[in-house]
Amino acid sequence: MKYNCFFAILCCAITLFPLYGGEKEHLVPISFDQVSLTDHFWSNRMRIQKEVLVPVAFERTEVGLEDLRRTGNYLKGIQDEIASTSRFNTSDLYKVLEGAAYLLKMERDVNLENQIDAIAKIISDAQEIDGYLYPAHTTGSYKDAELWGGAGMGDKPYSWVVHSHELYNVGHLYEAAVAYYQATGKKNLLAIAEKSAQHINKVFFEGDKNYNEGVPVNQAPGHQEIELALVKLYRATNNPLYLTMAKRFVDIRGVTYTPTGDGVMSPEYAQQHVPVREQKEAVGHSVRATYLYSAMADVGALTEDSTLLPALKKIWGDIVNTRMHITGGLGAIHGIEGFGPQYELPNKEAYNETCAAVGNVFFNHRMFLLEKDGKYMDVAEVALFNNVLAGVNLEGNKFFYVNPLESVGNVDRSHWFGTACCPTNLARLIPQVSGLMYSHTEKDIYVSLYTSSQTNIPLKKGDVQITQKTNYPFDESIYLSVNPKKNNQKFSLNLRIPTWTENQFVPGELYHYIDNNKKEWSISINGEFVDNPTVEKGFVSIHRKWKEGDKVVLHLPMPVRYNHAIKKVEANINRVAITKGPLVYCAEGVDNEGELRRYYIDEIDKTPLIKKGDNMLENIDIISNLSAHYLDENGEATFRSIAMLPYYAWNNRGVSTMNVWFAENEELVRLTAPIMPLALKSIRASYTHEYDDVLAVVSGNYPKSSFDTTIPRWTAYPKLGGTETVDFMFKEQTPVKSVAIYWYDDNGGVQLPVSWNLEYKIGDSEWLDFPLYTTDYYTILKDQFNLVHSAGEDFVIDALRINMKSKQNSSVGVLQVQIEVD
Ligand SMILES: [Zn+2]
Repeated sequence: MKYNCFFAILCCAITLFPLYGGEKEHLVPISFDQVSLTDHFWSNRMRIQKEVLVPVAFERTEVGLEDLRRTGNYLKGIQDEIASTSRFNTSDLYKVLEGAAYLLKMERDVNLENQIDAIAKIISDAQEIDGYLYPAHTTGSYKDAELWGGAGMGDKPYSWVVHSHELYNVGHLYEAAVAYYQATGKKNLLAIAEKSAQHINKVFFEGDKNYNEGVPVNQAPGHQEIELALVKLYRATNNPLYLTMAKRFVDIRGVTYTPTGDGVMSPEYAQQHVPVREQKEAVGHSVRATYLYSAMADVGALTEDSTLLPALKKIWGDIVNTRMHITGGLGAIHGIEGFGPQYELPNKEAYNETCAAVGNVFFNHRMFLLEKDGKYMDVAEVALFNNVLAGVNLEGNKFFYVNPLESVGNVDRSHWFGTACCPTNLARLIPQVSGLMYSHTEKDIYVSLYTSSQTNIPLKKGDVQITQKTNYPFDESIYLSVNPKKNNQKFSLNLRIPTWTENQFVPGELYHYIDNNKKEWSISINGEFVDNPTVEKGFVSIHRKWKEGDKVVLHLPMPVRYNHAIKKVEANINRVAITKGPLVYCAEGVDNEGELRRYYIDEIDKTPLIKKGDNMLENIDIISNLSAHYLDENGEATFRSIAMLPYYAWNNRGVSTMNVWFAENEELVRLTAPIMPLALKSIRASYTHEYDDVLAVVSGNYPKSSFDTTIPRWTAYPKLGGTETVDFMFKEQTPVKSVAIYWYDDNGGVQLPVSWNLEYKIGDSEWLDFPLYTTDYYTILKDQFNLVHSAGEDFVIDALRINMKSKQNSSVGVLQVQIEVD
């Protein structure tokens, strides 16, 4: 073992960040533990992280630990149950370990360390003598799982790395091991990680007689992660083998192996369709993609391989120009959990896995360090403050895996998930946020994220202490105090001027402001405003001789802004989204009367009232009265303001409807929210499923089939086997000629009725039998209207009733009713 000089190596390893060829002035980030937070926004999150999120996550990842414990017992010959058939539950545990280690780096905690040491022992016991670590293969439980094809794990170690997650899991272990080593100096986890990495190098690149018949596997894993983890292992140990391995795994992707199939076996799914340097678009599973791009940026930087940068820039452009939600969410599409076609950015159906937004932050922060361009931090900031933070509730114990931009009230965060990648990614990302704030070259300082904090920046000519005071992202002013150790030290202080201060919210072609609410940002030094400050690559640069106590005030106005998406994003045509500073705002049903889909924002409000929320939303800026209109179900539009809150804070006060992109005219509301036909006073049903709408049956939409799920409907689900009614009350006595019904049938819980018939009322009469035209009868046919006529002339009524008898084990539903009146 070669740990003797680790501490000495670590010091230089942390500052090791060579750059692409030729560039001397590379950026070095100030590590998160070197930044003390003095704010409310993030400090509060860190407290919750320590008190709630990480303890909860340890508890919930116990299943992974149990698998490891059983594996250790198996190896020692101790009778125990075998491990589960999970392919990746240990990865979740490793991510929690990583997050916990970061907390220790901020503040040592004996109990937490003891807990981690005990876990390290269990992991160590589960590792085979040669370094292999994967409970399902070691204990043989893989036999109970699907072996091949799709999401299997193969019948031998490393025989199905496209989906086994063997390398993904240990990648997360490496990240945890490095974090714990850096936090405590303890090498217990690091030893396991290095043993694993050296074993993998042998099996994959040299050949090991116990694996793959001695032939090097030489295949990139289906789920990226080990690549960027190996870079971290290299940075912590300075062993160049790990960097070489990372580069090899990046280089062979799309070269030595390409899956051939659909879905999770498609070549694009794990970005194996072409070699990485030839990739131009973001495709496939979005978490895998962002981990790959992050690793490419790392490998490119550390090996001075400039051939990776063009691909990274193209992919980045493709993301921000065509495939990113305004919340910074990536991977819009369900099914592959990934990138859809360009511009396909649905709202209600948006996938936007929390992990993908975390990956978006990782990728963009690395690109910023490479390119010194603020636009990357603009994207990282938007992803962080919107999609990432929406992934966890304000209490830190409930999580979103999927982050839609609209909800009809059927979405709630979960306490945990069977696949727990998202909450555990939050466990490790949030403590690192202070590491996104400061970076430096040998002579200049960059401030890339604003929050009340303090740090010391080691410039070559002397340390500089920077203190920030602000309540960002709600306060517009950032007060910086600059304290160089040496008076009159010359350097540039570079402050990021976010894209959202100008004409659009986030870099790229997708979104732009449509209002004139812009206010100019400004900067002053020791009370004197800087005239015509210039911005280069997203930063304003103040170059001067600094002395102790110099004060800089950056004022970034945060008026309410109105956003359009470009027309190619069909989901948002004639829709508008509200942002303020780096925050996307949404409305929740709980704060707004009526239905959110009936609101439309058709005017620009220059100064809506902004106030602090209360209770759960304490300290959060709420837009309390944004001008809008409301189209009620009778088709009448009235002025009605909307209350909005930051998107990240939604779903903290119970389940409610939510919307980000609002219609901007009445016509669009009429298309999407049913209006009561003129002749009707009201419609009511015996029962309506909570997400259905009885008004939908008169929306005028023509169904494509009885299983048309694209238009609103009425169903009585989950009431099975009963008799249901829908009543239509007319405003005045109305002559009815015919009635036609288009049934909804999903071939499951809602099916065609057994029978149906009509009744009517005149005045206060009882319900009376509908006089059916002599040759008509009540047909029950799928995929078409079922039409009956009234017998006789002058059939004038006050109300009409549809009686429907459900099949025994299903309910009934209606897509459309057409009532022909004279
Ligand atoms: Zn996830």
